[in-house]
Amino acid sequence: MDKTATHLSDYMHWFVDERGRHWKLGPLCCITKGVQFKNSVLKRKYTFFVGTVGSVPADRLQEFFDESVVSWIRPGWECDEDERMTYRPGLSLLFRALRFAADHHRDGRRKGVDASPYINHPIAVASELVSVSVEDPEVLAAALLHDTVEDTCATPEDLEREFGPRVRELVEAVTDDKSLPSHERKRLQVEHAPGLEPDAKLIKIADKICNVFDVGHAPAEGWSLERRREYVDWTERVVAGCRGINSELEARYDDVLRDARARVDAETGGDE
Ligand code: ZN
Repeated sequence: MDKTATHLSDYMHWFVDERGRHWKLGPLCCITKGVQFKNSVLKRKYTFFVGTVGSVPADRLQEFFDESVVSWIRPGWECDEDERMTYRPGLSLLFRALRFAADHHRDGRRKGVDASPYINHPIAVASELVSVSVEDPEVLAAALLHDTVEDTCATPEDLEREFGPRVRELVEAVTDDKSLPSHERKRLQVEHAPGLEPDAKLIKIADKICNVFDVGHAPAEGWSLERRREYVDWTERVVAGCRGINSELEARYDDVLRDARARVDAETGGDE
């Protein structure tokens, strides 16, 4: 048995064919098929190919299959008792997302006076969603990753490879085009909000909750009261386009908004 094939059999045990049938491959079968299906044949014959649950190192898989096949193979597929495969990304997806975000934001700091590590922000955004019973691991992973494309060297392709197409879509939906000037990006956020898919709207509201909270409690250095006021007013217009999905999350935003305005007003009383 050659060494390469042994490695392949460690990762590949299941696949779904083009008619939606679920197949289990024994190690020996897997070795044979794995070699036989390498690249072109596999792609043509099967709609997709899935790996076993657990950590599948993409660099190993690329030795056997090309990019388009490898993108389908990721942890999160589980086998039911009746031997059907279901994609059930759970804690492993969340922790990989957290680790990826922490690594990519490692040199980042928040703009606030306390200059807290940037990773605190995506963690807070995901926590807001958990606190209103959002439990979809892909939505929570996207919340953890929501600023990686905008603010770090991570690309949408990186996210798809590591976390699958859904996480990539969600992150891209809440990512600004950084080549545009700030006022234009802000205008586009208001314009695009109503057209976002429901889960992207949830991430958008949670992001605004955290940012408005920070503008109330730990505003960026040098931000005037007027600028803080304008910022919270703008988030209100963005959130207006995201309403109707989760009333608890919206109520939480309304509370944070009210509190931030009260804080800015209180400071206004002292400063002006
Ligand atoms: Zn954010």
